[in-house]
Amino acid sequence: MSEVVAAKNLIKFYGDKNKFKALDGINLSINEGDYICIMGPSGSGKTTLLNNLSTIDMPTSGTVKINNINVRSMNEFDLGKFRYENLGFIFQEFNLIDSLTIRENIGIPLALAEKPEREINERVAVIAEKLGISDILDKFPVECSGGQRQRAASARALVAEPKMVVADEPTGNLDTKNSHELLKILRELNENEGITILMVTHDAMIASYAKKLILLRDGKIEETIEREGLTQREFFYRIVEAATKESQDLFEAMKG
Ligand code: ADP
Repeated sequence: MSEVVAAKNLIKFYGDKNKFKALDGINLSINEGDYICIMGPSGSGKTTLLNNLSTIDMPTSGTVKINNINVRSMNEFDLGKFRYENLGFIFQEFNLIDSLTIRENIGIPLALAEKPEREINERVAVIAEKLGISDILDKFPVECSGGQRQRAASARALVAEPKMVVADEPTGNLDTKNSHELLKILRELNENEGITILMVTHDAMIASYAKKLILLRDGKIEETIEREGLTQREFFYRIVEAATKESQDLFEAMKG
């Protein structure tokens, strides 16, 4: 299986005189077809890691290669092009453009790649069908529900067939029903079409949709758990157990 992302010894400092170490020696490999969730307490470095693995930010030291290309070797212009050709982003806030219809919003990555209008319309129609939003293509974002808007944002992330979909708390602004619907769609796309997904969440239930969990603590990978062979429920309990280990140890200690 081909490697999409290779990260070696990522260190990220923030602040004046590199005061705060947000990532502390991360090594990570993401292969085609992976569905990985990064989980950890607030402030553990999840968003920083996601941003550093997806060209949004650069590490203080260490290397990130996407499709075997060192992202540091590219200038801003090349990076922009590389991003829309290889990566699809889904954010908590949807980030749709209010003055464009859902059809136009979804087509943005293809318009940026200067694809002909006919091709854009065809590809938008196909991905909208997969995400169950064919009926809202001519509406504007304000006329749609939160769930529909996030599906539209997901369609925009997927329409150019990126090498990897990068999602930061994609269900953060959705109710439970819409969250699970979106997660089921992403899982189907991963299982049936081999789309690689890298997602950040702080929620074990959401993480249980992935095939692999990376638990971060204080900028370090504390544990990696594979779902293989486990039901989603068993995987969920494994995640909860790992994520609450510190609290459980404290309870153990208090007994004495
Ligand atoms: P998480 O996503 O797990 O909540 P983040 O990656 O957002 O964690 O942040 C990790 C740590 O780095 C936090 O302590 C946060 O305050 C700090 N941090 C994040 N971004 C910046 C920034 N731009 N400048 C300074 N500190 C930052």
